[in-house]
Amino acid sequence: MHQGMRRKLVEEIRNKGITDERVLEAIGSIPRHLFMDSTFVQFAYIDKAFPIAAGQTISQPYTVAFQTESLQIKKFERVLEVGTGSGYQAAILCRMGGSVYTIERQKSLYEFASNLLPTLGYRPHFFYGDGYLGLPTYGPFDKIIVTAGATFVPEPLKQQLKIGGILVIPVGNNQLQIMKIIKRISEKEYTEEDKGGFVFVPLLTGLSD
Ligand code: SAH
Repeated sequence: MHQGMRRKLVEEIRNKGITDERVLEAIGSIPRHLFMDSTFVQFAYIDKAFPIAAGQTISQPYTVAFQTESLQIKKFERVLEVGTGSGYQAAILCRMGGSVYTIERQKSLYEFASNLLPTLGYRPHFFYGDGYLGLPTYGPFDKIIVTAGATFVPEPLKQQLKIGGILVIPVGNNQLQIMKIIKRISEKEYTEEDKGGFVFVPLLTGLSD
C-alpha cells in the first residue's frame, strides 16, 4: 500500500519540476510514514510538511527533493545537514551515496532519528548540538544543507565548505525564506543564486535544553 502511495508522490514531485532520477528514486524508496507522528501517518505520502515532536516539522517532500537536487551529491561526498528533525532528509542524503553528518538541537529528535535510521540501513553520523557552528572538526564538507529557516548565512558553514562545494540554505524571516544556492569558487570567493520562496521552521541558536 505504502509503495503505491510513494509512486504517486514521486510522479507529483516530478510534475512539479524535479528531474534528477536519483533524487526521485530516493523519494520512491524511503518509507516516509515511519518518520511521522502516528497521528499523521495517513498523510505521509501527501506532498506537505507535517508536525513532528518538539514543535518541529518534517519538510514537504518537494522541498526535500528540491534541496537534494540542488546539492548534486556524488557518491562518498561528505555532506553536512543542519536540522536532523525526523531524519527523513538525512536518509535521503544517505540513499544518494553521501557520507552524511547531521546535527540537531532538540534532544528528543536527535534520539528519535538516531534510533530509527539504522533500522532502515542508513547510518549517518548524528550530532546533538548547535548547527550554526557546523562541525569544524569533521569538515570541510563537499555539500552543506540547512533544513531550517535562517535570518543570515552562518559564517562557520561557509568556512566549512570545500572549494567547489555547495551550500543550500533558506534565508529570510519567520514567514518566508528564499532558497540560496551558495558555491565556494575559491578560498575567499562565493557565488550566490536565489531559487524561490519556501517556508521552514526557524533556525535557532544554542541547545533546546
Ligand atoms: N530535515 C528535517 C527537517 C526538520 S525541521 C526532516 O527531514 O525532518 C528543522 C529542524 O532544525 C528542527 O528539528 C529544528 O529543531 C532544527 N534546528 C533549528 N535550529 C537548529 C540549530 N541551530 N542546529 C541544529 N538544528 C537546528
